[in-house]
Amino acid sequence: MTPLFLRINPADNVAIAIPAEGIGYGMEFEGIAAREFIPQAHKIVTAPIEAGQSVVRYGQTIGIANRDLRLGSRIWEDDVRLPVAPSLDHLPLSTAVPEPLPPLEGFTFQGYRNADGSVGTRNVLAIATTVQCVAPTVDYAVKRLKSEVLPHFPNVDDIVALTHSYGCGVAIDAPGAAIPIRTLRHISLHANAGAWPLVVSLGCEKLQPERLFRSDSTAGAPLPVLESGNVVRLQSEPGFAATVSAIMQAAERRLGQLNCRYREPCPASELVVGLQCGGSDAFSGVTCNPAVGYAADLLVRAGATVLFSEVTEVRDAIHLLTPRAATPAIARDLIREMRWYDEYLARGGADRSANPTPGNKRGGLANVVEKALGSIAKAGSTAIRSVATHGEKASTRGLVFAATPASDFICGAQQLTSMNLHVFTTGEGSPYGLAMVPVIKVSSRTSLAERWPDLIDFDAGIIATGAASVEETGRQLFRLLLDVASGRKTWAQHWGLANALALFNPGPVT
Ligand code: CA
Repeated sequence: MTPLFLRINPADNVAIAIPAEGIGYGMEFEGIAAREFIPQAHKIVTAPIEAGQSVVRYGQTIGIANRDLRLGSRIWEDDVRLPVAPSLDHLPLSTAVPEPLPPLEGFTFQGYRNADGSVGTRNVLAIATTVQCVAPTVDYAVKRLKSEVLPHFPNVDDIVALTHSYGCGVAIDAPGAAIPIRTLRHISLHANAGAWPLVVSLGCEKLQPERLFRSDSTAGAPLPVLESGNVVRLQSEPGFAATVSAIMQAAERRLGQLNCRYREPCPASELVVGLQCGGSDAFSGVTCNPAVGYAADLLVRAGATVLFSEVTEVRDAIHLLTPRAATPAIARDLIREMRWYDEYLARGGADRSANPTPGNKRGGLANVVEKALGSIAKAGSTAIRSVATHGEKASTRGLVFAATPASDFICGAQQLTSMNLHVFTTGEGSPYGLAMVPVIKVSSRTSLAERWPDLIDFDAGIIATGAASVEETGRQLFRLLLDVASGRKTWAQHWGLANALALFNPGPVT
């Protein structure tokens, strides 16, 4: 018989409805009859729960029942209240570090090797900008470059204007300013742009090129990317037409260099894969996220770097992650990031309950705890090898927690500091894409993949009915990642969908 609902852990007292048309009143499965209509992805009570008792999913408390919940009834949003978040003071540090999985040898992709040792998955000209003031001018020049110049350089995939809303009118010496600045620096030096962008500055802005491209290691010395001819300064140019022409000339020189790059076989260990979810639903934690988690384990076994992020979607599952940190120091780094974000939210008069969206709730997610337990499935099962703070570049291979907000476009921008490939899981659906890296969109439900056949790259929904296993699906996804890294286009690339570069600026605006 086709299953009507899906229970994840034997200890769970709720399960989620599988059929796209929901579970009708009176329909029965495993001896439990629905007392009311249960829409797809919403929860049915599979063991009676008294008021004040825990509602359990993933074997974890996702909420406290506000009233007696009878067998076969639907869980409504106001039936469950948010439990207290795990305390950050007494977490187990590195107490259950997973043993390394057997290495995977022989997997390669066709990538672009750079002089700085990084490897690209695309070949693009990036035009870095120091300040929002120059964005429309750069966009104007890029439009002309794409139609008049790019066709002469067939080996170059794209020209990307790294425009953003930062750079001036900000308290640039405030501690929070370091986050958008380092994020922007690392993105500008992205592996897919050969780690060498063209730079456009206004002239009078607070974020001067020398400040944006300041070396971390050599006592703040300006990076070589600021050599003469590589920086166009608008206030030094005689008018708009001359400015556009200066940008186009500098771009043409750089395009000539980029056109000489070629793909060569690179080991899968050169992949840096950023994982995130957006528009999650109650299936995300049982279909797409575990499949991505399995692919993440394969990547780690192949020596690659895998980033998982989204602090507010990790916070309520932190007690499951600190034991997996490879060392107590790494566990403390994780806790530091959770604490920083708790304080950041508190300063803004909010807390973690601000996270779920109306779409998450429509998709059956009761609250941020249930969302977090599903979200961390993306991180697979290996040890956490390091923590990168906001905007920092990941410095180790293996599984890395890269702290970012959960906001899709900000998380994506921050992961761009390190990643050369992006995996985005979704239940409700989003046409999300990025200009600098391919984004592979994975659906939690087959119904979404069928509704959006020209936006979803990979359907993990088949796991829900038992038609495919997490392992099989994860293995297929791993193969797709290698193909996309080698040049295969994603749907977002096919349509040219790229979300704006949204920087996280927790510092004051002046
Ligand atoms: Ca997200």
